[in-house]
Amino acid sequence: MTRSGVRTTVKVRVKTDVITTRKRKRLEQITGRDSRIIKQYLKAIYHNEEQLATTKKGKKKVNKAKLDHLTLTTYKKNKLPNRHTARHDLKKNFPRCSQNELQECRDNAVAIYHSQQAKNSAPAKDPQLKKIPRIQLSHAKRFILTCSPSNSIARWWVGIRDSLDTTKNKTHIHEKLWLPLACSPYHEYKLNQVKLRALEVLYYPKKKEWWIHFILLNVPEKYSSSRPPAVLGIDLGINKRAVSALLTPKGTINRHEIRFWSDKTRKKLLKETEQKIAKLQKIIAKTSLSVSKKNSLLQQLKSLRKRKRTEHKLTDHTYVNRLVKYILSVGKRYDLYVVVGFPIHIRKNHFRGNFHPRSRKNVQKWNYRRVVELLKFKLSLQGWEEHKILAIGESWTSSCCSRCESYHTIRPNQPTFICHTCGYNLNADLNGAKNIAKRLIKYVLQPKYNSIKDQVSGKFFPLSSFRVFPVLSQWLQTKQSHLLTPGAGVSA
Ligand SMILES: [Zn+2]
Repeated sequence: MTRSGVRTTVKVRVKTDVITTRKRKRLEQITGRDSRIIKQYLKAIYHNEEQLATTKKGKKKVNKAKLDHLTLTTYKKNKLPNRHTARHDLKKNFPRCSQNELQECRDNAVAIYHSQQAKNSAPAKDPQLKKIPRIQLSHAKRFILTCSPSNSIARWWVGIRDSLDTTKNKTHIHEKLWLPLACSPYHEYKLNQVKLRALEVLYYPKKKEWWIHFILLNVPEKYSSSRPPAVLGIDLGINKRAVSALLTPKGTINRHEIRFWSDKTRKKLLKETEQKIAKLQKIIAKTSLSVSKKNSLLQQLKSLRKRKRTEHKLTDHTYVNRLVKYILSVGKRYDLYVVVGFPIHIRKNHFRGNFHPRSRKNVQKWNYRRVVELLKFKLSLQGWEEHKILAIGESWTSSCCSRCESYHTIRPNQPTFICHTCGYNLNADLNGAKNIAKRLIKYVLQPKYNSIKDQVSGKFFPLSSFRVFPVLSQWLQTKQSHLLTPGAGVSA
């Protein structure tokens, strides 16, 4: 494999049964017209072969600039009428086809000519029968591929610039022809994994189906970091606190890199505001007040609540800022991957009658999504790569022992965690942070799927983007049993 990459083609069917007849007609028109243009180009090449083709190392090569000179006119309305006339004027024959598309057709025709020359074959005898697809390149936004998970018709859509511009009131409208794709998980994985280079739209007359062939450039990247890989697990606490634990290349948690993140002064301010609000609410509810007095108190309450909201936000900001600073400093020493435990169904699970009322209330107040989004945003501003900060599900990480993976554990109170199997006793949030860091390694080493989902953005990151994987498996080979099977432990 070369550094420049490997070209592969992924073929995806268009959901033709759900698109409108107008779209279908457009597709037919565009592809039909494209093949006609390519054929005309081929005719022009063969007609002027002596003028266009030069022989290099026994191979004939077409000069594209000369071909353009023969086929395209630079026609400008006012300044220079007909700067030159072309022998095979394609713009005249296909006035609704843009310059870009004509040149894409030209490239196709030249490629076909070259291949025919290489095979020493004559031009096809009956070119009327076959449709020749045009290759559309991905640069200059010739097409867009998007994923819309909430769409009921299709998850993946491709928007091709509609080359037959609609003409309304003598003005051209550049539309996009949006086509729904029938993507399987394999296609999704492939399309996510690599760089899109080009596409062609094809019609299979026997099946009566439209297909899109994506031409992908797979750039295999070697793991080249001089720093050792490491995973930082972060467990978010309800009470405006986060714990981080660093899983180092030795396969152990670094004792000196355990951090608790919170902002005590801000938390104190927040608590005071909350107390004031509670006090005011009591006064308003109990005593019989005059209307004017009550109104002024309600006004006060309103402003206090506003202050509480901003204080909540500021508290998050301050401790996330510190966390970002720390992550960047650790990132200088290690090739760092950050994983945040994201409680997915926590609101759903804390229903009435379940759990303690106070814990239910805390969960409803807890804005974990904002914290994770802030962290992601602030790291992205510092140029942190997207797949290096992931939010993954944290279910069961708080009740699993991080040393022996036993679930035979208890939490006598909120901060303490005790394992009955191995007698491990530590802070419960720290235990969670360790488990979260290990979970990422498990996802990579014992993959159930081809990609890892980020719970906040909903994006899928293919396992190949974790270039650390081969290195991780190397240094975990001796430690693997400690991490992946119950029994052995990871010392803290
Ligand atoms: Zn244990």
